[in-house]
Formats: sequence, C-alpha cells, structure tokens
Amino acid sequence: MIMKNKRKKLANLLLKNYILLYVIMTVILIISLITTLMLGIILYLNNQNSVLDNPYSIMKDDYRDINTTEIEKLNGFIEIIDNNNKVIYTKGKLKEDKTNLSLEDFNLIIENNYINYPEISKPHFCSDYMYRSAYNKEKGFMMIIAIPRESVKEVYLKERKLNPKYFTILSICTCTFILFVGFIIYSRVSSKNFVRPLKILIDGAQKISEGDYSARIFLKSKNEFGELRDAFNTMAERIELEKTLKEKSEEARRRLILDISHDLKNPLANIIGYSDFLIKNQEISKEERLMYLNVIQSNSLRANNLITDLFEFSKLQSIDFMLTMENKDICEFLRSIIASYIPQMEEKGFQYDFDIPEESIFLNFDEKNLDRALSNLILNSIKYNPPNTQIYISVKAIKDKVIITLQDNGIGIPKELQRNIFDPFVRVDEARNSKSGGTGLGLAITKSIIEKHGGTISIESDTGKGTKFTIELNNL
Ligand code: ADP
Repeated sequence: MIMKNKRKKLANLLLKNYILLYVIMTVILIISLITTLMLGIILYLNNQNSVLDNPYSIMKDDYRDINTTEIEKLNGFIEIIDNNNKVIYTKGKLKEDKTNLSLEDFNLIIENNYINYPEISKPHFCSDYMYRSAYNKEKGFMMIIAIPRESVKEVYLKERKLNPKYFTILSICTCTFILFVGFIIYSRVSSKNFVRPLKILIDGAQKISEGDYSARIFLKSKNEFGELRDAFNTMAERIELEKTLKEKSEEARRRLILDISHDLKNPLANIIGYSDFLIKNQEISKEERLMYLNVIQSNSLRANNLITDLFEFSKLQSIDFMLTMENKDICEFLRSIIASYIPQMEEKGFQYDFDIPEESIFLNFDEKNLDRALSNLILNSIKYNPPNTQIYISVKAIKDKVIITLQDNGIGIPKELQRNIFDPFVRVDEARNSKSGGTGLGLAITKSIIEKHGGTISIESDTGKGTKFTIELNNL
C-alpha cells in the first residue's frame, strides 16, 4: 500500500512533459521576440546609415568640407544653394551637365523629404534622379543631394538588404526554425521517458520468450513502467523456480524408479533362484528344503515390505490424500504406542525413560497415520542401535504447539547424511539395512505424515552420541 502511494504515475510524467512543452514554447516566444527586435534594430540602423535616409549626416558648416564620397560612388552629385536661390557650389557627376535644377526637380525634392522610405516604383518618381535636401540654418544654405535612380535601385537597396517584406519573411523563418528546434528537443525528452523504458521491457520479454528465464529487467522507474518491470521480474522468477522444481522432481522420480528396481532386484532374484533350485532338485533332504523355503519367504517379505511402504509413500504424496482427523488426547495416544514397543526394547536390553504429562493434551490428529509415523522412529531406534541404548520420549505443550521428542544415545547418523535423511531410500549403512529389513522409506513416510498434519520434524544427531527427533504439531 505504501508503495502505491509513493508510486509516480505516468499521468504525472505526462503533466511534467506538458509543463516542459509550455516552458519550451515560452522560451521560443521570448527568443522569437528578441530575434525580431534585434532584426528591427539592425534594419533601423541600416536605414539610418544611408545618406538618402539622413542627408544631415554629411552636413558641414563649410559646404566645401561635405563628404560626397558615398554620393559620388553612386554617380550622384550635390548642389549648394544660398538664400538667394543661387547655386553657389556643386560636386560630383552633374545631371546632364546642368548647374541649375528645374522646378520639377525642386518639387521632387520637397516630396522626397517627407517620405521616409523611397519607393522607387511610385509614379512621381518618374524622374531619372532621386533627391534629398538639408538646410544649414546657421550658415544659410541648402544642400541638395541627387542620385540617379538606377544607382539607388542597384546599390542603395542592395546594401540595405532588409526591407519590411524581407524582415517579415526572415522573422517568420527564424521563428519557424526556432520552433522546429524546440519541438525536436521536446520530442527527444518525451521519447526518452516513454520509448526507452518500453524498449528495455520489450528486450526483456523477448529474452524470456526465447527461453532465457534468468533474464531480469533493470529499469529505474517508479511509475507504471516500474510496476510492469516488477511484475515481469516476478513472473520470470516464478517460471525459473518452477522450471528448477520440475527438473528436480523429474530427477527425484528417475532416482526413485532406479532405487525401487534396485531394491526389488535382489529379493526377486533370490526367490527365482531358490524356487528354481527346489523345482530341479526334488531329492534334497527335508531340512535343506526347509532352509531354502525360509530364504524364499524372507525375500518375499522384503519385497512385500518394500511394495507396501512404496504404496503408502505414494498415497501420502498424492494430492487426493486426506487425513482422518479426530480430537484426542495425545498423551494417552503416545502412552499406548510406547507400551506396545516395551517388550521389544526389553528384549534388546534397552533402557527407557518417558516424560508424558498425566493431564490430557487434546489435539486434532489422524490416529492411524500418526501411529505409523511415531512407530517408525521408535522402531528405528530399536533396529539400528546396540543393546543398553537409552531411549527417551517426551511430550510438551508450549503455547499453541505440542512438541514430541524421541531421543536415543545410540550410534547416531553422520552429519553429511542428515540433510537428506528424510528423502526416500537414504540409508546410513546399506548392509545393516538389508539385515534389519528396512526399506529406506520409513523416515520419508514419517515426514510426509507430520507435514500432512501441518507440523514439522527435525533431526539432531552425532555419530556415536545418538539421535534426537523433534516433532512440532499445531494445537489450534
Ligand atoms: P528404513 O525404513 O530402512 O529404516 P528410514 O528412512 O527409516 O529407513 O531410515 C533411514 C536410515 O536412517 C536408516 O537406514 C538408518 O541407518 C538411519 N537411522 C534412522 N533412525 C536412526 C536411529 N535412531 N539411530 C541410528 N540410525 C538411524
């Protein structure tokens, strides 16, 4: 639940992207405005640079000092007219070698002075020249600048480069370009947030679909992509675990079949061999015949025990197997089991001690199966240990658990075998086992029964010091 609250949703990521887009758009707007402003300033400055835009820029008190280089470069000329309307000075390439301007020329001068920007195509510009004038108040003279229209067109406008039309186109192009760059940046950032995790997830899914169940997705994300990563990794983990379990159970099944056939082979070979001998040798003595029949019987019993145990073990492994639970006094139940084995203990010269409370401990258990489980343990102690071994059995109720302990101070079980001692067909001493008639399935059956009761069984043992089994059953 805490994880859910901490989770960053994709919706938040989208919101983040929208905010980013908003910021990018604002930046673009500001950049566009600055660019337009700068272009405007450049245009303004460019316009002011021309002597036609500002004839006063070359005005001097002494008209002889007026710099006419730019005008002359454009094949134009200047005329200085005094207060009596007389031309007192000229410089540059004069119009058709005339010293005086016509009235029409003067009209053009007056009109031109009120037009900020000279539009060449206007009808009153029919004259070959374009005129501007500036008046020097102090010295009382007027300067007239005349430049041929062709030069204004070719040179002056070319130099100016920027006119309002060009300026608008350039501004639109610049804004479009900046907008384009902005969107590229935005698409890169947003694709990083969506495409990259998707690619990592697809790569991982592809690996698992190709059978690589060890594949895991490493993706730093707290949103839905992170959840998908976790779900994928859990799925891969489960598949891997199930694959390992399947392989293990397959291996266990194969080993079980091998063990069964191995264990059945010897008694069956003996039965076949001795019965064959008896059939072929009818004339043997009665004693000899009895001896061979005894061998046949003991081997038949061994095979029968193995098949019975195997049947029981398989039954316990089946998912359909159900215990018949009854609520009974476990102390009374244990006392009756122990009582049935006292003659065998005494016969082998065992010493025994029991710690079973007088008062009842009621527990739900399957009498028949728990009898089998506990009997296996007691019988093992009797079977595998030498005379004078001490057996101790106790039962205790601790909180909601009932703990049953079966302990002896016999030969013990080597440490390396303890981990697998509850597996089928695990034996400490093969030779001793065949003598004792053990099938190697006793502890496996005991463990299955205890686990079916929802309990646990553990072993503590040391070679030469004895063995202790502890069973924990839930007393709910
Ligand atoms: P089995 O049915 O052949 O007796 P179990 O599964 O009951 O097989 O026991 C497995 C092995 O554990 C036995 O072969 C025996 O060597 C060893 N074992 C079990 N209990 C004891 C014990 N109390 N003392 C010494 N060895 C034991």
